[in-house]
Amino acid sequence: MLDLESLRLFSEVARKLDNGFRRLPAFQNQSPGMARLAEVLNATAERLQDNYPYFHPLYAGQMLKPPHPVARLAYALAMWINPNNHALDGGRATSAMEKEAVAEIAGMYGWKNFLGHLCGGGTMANLEALWVAGQLLPGKKILASEQAHYTHGRISGVLQLPFESVPCDARGRMDVNALAKRVGRGDVGTVVATMGTTATGSVDPLPEILALRAKHGFRIHADAAYGGYFVLTENLGEDAERAVARIGEADSIVIDPHKHGLQPYGCGCVLFRDPEAGRLYKHDSPYTYFSSAELHLGEISLECSRPGAAAAALWATQRLLPLEKGGEFAGGLERGRKAALALFGKLREDVRFVTAFSPELDIVVFAPKATSVSGASVLSRKIFEAAARRDLHLAVAELPVRFWEENLGAAKRDRETIACLRSVLIKPEHFDWVDRIWGLLSSSADEILGARN
Ligand SMILES: *Cc1c(COP(=O)(O)O)cnc(C)c1O
Repeated sequence: MLDLESLRLFSEVARKLDNGFRRLPAFQNQSPGMARLAEVLNATAERLQDNYPYFHPLYAGQMLKPPHPVARLAYALAMWINPNNHALDGGRATSAMEKEAVAEIAGMYGWKNFLGHLCGGGTMANLEALWVAGQLLPGKKILASEQAHYTHGRISGVLQLPFESVPCDARGRMDVNALAKRVGRGDVGTVVATMGTTATGSVDPLPEILALRAKHGFRIHADAAYGGYFVLTENLGEDAERAVARIGEADSIVIDPHKHGLQPYGCGCVLFRDPEAGRLYKHDSPYTYFSSAELHLGEISLECSRPGAAAAALWATQRLLPLEKGGEFAGGLERGRKAALALFGKLREDVRFVTAFSPELDIVVFAPKATSVSGASVLSRKIFEAAARRDLHLAVAELPVRFWEENLGAAKRDRETIACLRSVLIKPEHFDWVDRIWGLLSSSADEILGARN
């Protein structure tokens, strides 16, 4: 089930790495001995079996999947050295790799002269973006939609920046009319545009937000942690396509290589359109930067120690799968989206289910039909469990009833939110498995809904 074939390459490339240090005097490596290693690692493998099978196409729940083999191996290779990208002293090669890989990401948005780096994840990346926003516009409000990632409200609290959320429309996107009214009051510093919400993959209407910026002069931060790579795809709907095509006009961008970029966790990325933002990071460390006058990434990042291995993994992945339209990487994203559209099509035609809106990226939300919203919520959880018993893993989400309004019919609105089922079709293989997924979902629904009648 797991990809073990690529492991065969590993000792070969590790030997290649080793050759680079051949001229050093020999010394005795610390090794606990094979027997003790084997014992502990066998125990580790056993513990790790207690996981949902994120690597399998029948895991179609949260936004989880293993990294690409090239990322996993490049990361492991770097681990034999464990470079630290805080300073060039700690990670010379991997700092250069980080700069190259990040420049390729910025290139997706047409940025050449920018400031950016990798960080621990989307949360850290958004923290840096909002920190810069707060430094440049002290005391001004941060706005994000009510479906924006909860991290924005929390980060604003950490940074002591005033935060307000803006209502969403019936498709989970920031309501531009509500935003227009709010920014008209004049105390708004930054608007966070979510390019693919974490719950439903809804894309905020960036062109309209940009038009409001032209009038009112606030900053725009594009939180493209989830949806940023879809700029490379060619099968989005019209609205999402128009929005992601203009991400490059934002003042800052966050994208998560550890979501759609095939990387292991611990890889987020923040980009600033104006490289001048770098001056805000200025610090005087008495002990860090000795090796050169060249830029150390620790001079433009809030985190100090950072894994050089993450940069090696990203660099290798982008070398194998360049970030270009029509390429293999973009094709993988397009297949996930096609899988979502195919599953959505089946759900919409089926009388047992109600759907919300058509997916904008690769996330589908749906619920069983019931006489009340509370009833549908109970049944969602039961179907979730029935599917898991068949090895089909979905997720449950709590979403505003408003998103379902068109399809709820006479169901009693006895709750403000509906606990629904959610499927993130993040793996290209999902497309080949849509019929299998549907078959298992369908029999799970029969088990639960049949019992109801
Ligand atoms: C995942 C996500 C985040 C948080 O990123 P982490 O990598 O989980 O820290 C922020 N915003 C959006 C839109 C996301 O999808």
